[in-house]
Amino acid sequence: GSRCCLRPIDETRKNEPVIHGVCETVVGVLGGGQLGRMLCQAASKMAIKVITLDPHEYCPASSFSYQHLLGSFSDGDAVREFAKMCGVVTVEIEHVDADTLEELERQGVDCEPKASTIRIIQDKYRQKVHFRQHGIPVSDFMEIDGIESLQLAEKKFGYPLMIKSKRLAYDGRGNAVAQSENELSSAVLALGGYDKGLYVEKWTPFVKELAVIVARGRGGTLSCYSVVETTHKDNICHIVEAPAIVPEKIKKLSLDVAQKAVASLEGAGVFAVELFLTSDDQVVLNEVAPRPHNSGHHTIESCYTSQYEQHLRAVLGLPLGDPSMKVQAAIMYNLLGEDEGESGFCMANQLIKRALNIPGVSVHWYDKPEMRKLRKMGHVTIIGPSMSKVKRCLDMLLSPETTEHV
Ligand code: ATP
Ligand code: MG
Ligand code: MG
Repeated sequence: GSRCCLRPIDETRKNEPVIHGVCETVVGVLGGGQLGRMLCQAASKMAIKVITLDPHEYCPASSFSYQHLLGSFSDGDAVREFAKMCGVVTVEIEHVDADTLEELERQGVDCEPKASTIRIIQDKYRQKVHFRQHGIPVSDFMEIDGIESLQLAEKKFGYPLMIKSKRLAYDGRGNAVAQSENELSSAVLALGGYDKGLYVEKWTPFVKELAVIVARGRGGTLSCYSVVETTHKDNICHIVEAPAIVPEKIKKLSLDVAQKAVASLEGAGVFAVELFLTSDDQVVLNEVAPRPHNSGHHTIESCYTSQYEQHLRAVLGLPLGDPSMKVQAAIMYNLLGEDEGESGFCMANQLIKRALNIPGVSVHWYDKPEMRKLRKMGHVTIIGPSMSKVKRCLDMLLSPETTEHV
């Protein structure tokens, strides 16, 4: 526990009077990224105390959390120490120490969702095995551990061949596509080699990518948000349109697959289910996140209850809120780093200035200390009375002709 240390601001918290609020339980969040930040923002509305654990002092969540602890969420000692301060432990990232969470659960610590869920999800190969066992449609896949199994996979799936890291994947960093035989070895190398733990997925030629946020309260009831369409840029989520413009039967099928996937996992909270829609109207599961998700950022402005508030309600055992949209349409546009350093900040700034001039646009900036190419630095959400109107606002936002005068 020596690596944990409270920020100086916490000195003052010691003498604070006990004030009775909506809920006395302290929510401990493993991770302090933008999802943690937005969880803290939602918590502040009801004076729910959220504490965060992250190795970085100046992470997106640190200035919004009730207490920020410095330490790694993949370090057992730090997680154990942190858990002593929490009434319930939850996550904003799945790459946390699942062994320690399991051990804590055995000692009676309340982890939501359950450690078993984190363990399944944090290993994409294990996740695929799990969902296939539960009869949920997934792209065909196989483990690879050397050139022989890779050649088997190549024979089985053909090209393009999607090679993925089993663990520590996010924002497409863990995926490598080989278009032909002579790209195979460089793809494996790009992922750090076979020793990292790799598997191969059959390429799914999707016509659209869809996503569904599903909440489960402590009583076990499931509650779904509208199906959305996600668009990726270099494997990174870039644009989310809510609701997705797809036929009713596709919506129903998507909700069915999403609910079935979440029902196979344990614990309370919100879960994001990423889906592929194929040209023959099949809905195939890509992956699940056991936490709030980029595809649900829009819910802050567009729904009665945001995914962040819903996650807190779920893990705390409070009644779930209404996930339905209170506007006709919403678009979320990620502000991805366009360049390193100052020049990247400059470009983001120009877009933000334009955004502030367009009615119906909300700006979120995560305050990350470093700008990197393709890093998620912030997002904007546009809401409006129809998808075509919202799309016109997005065009205005992206057009350099729009005035930057505020
Ligand atoms: P996230 O940030 O969503 O956690 P990730 O790093 O876990 O991303 P994936 O969701 O596995 O990555 O893949 C990223 C994107 O790559 C998908 O959204 C999709 O666009 C594409 N992709 C992934 N798997 C396949 C596949 N089997 N066939 C075709 N495209 C795929
Ligand atoms: Mg992922
Ligand atoms: Mg994904």
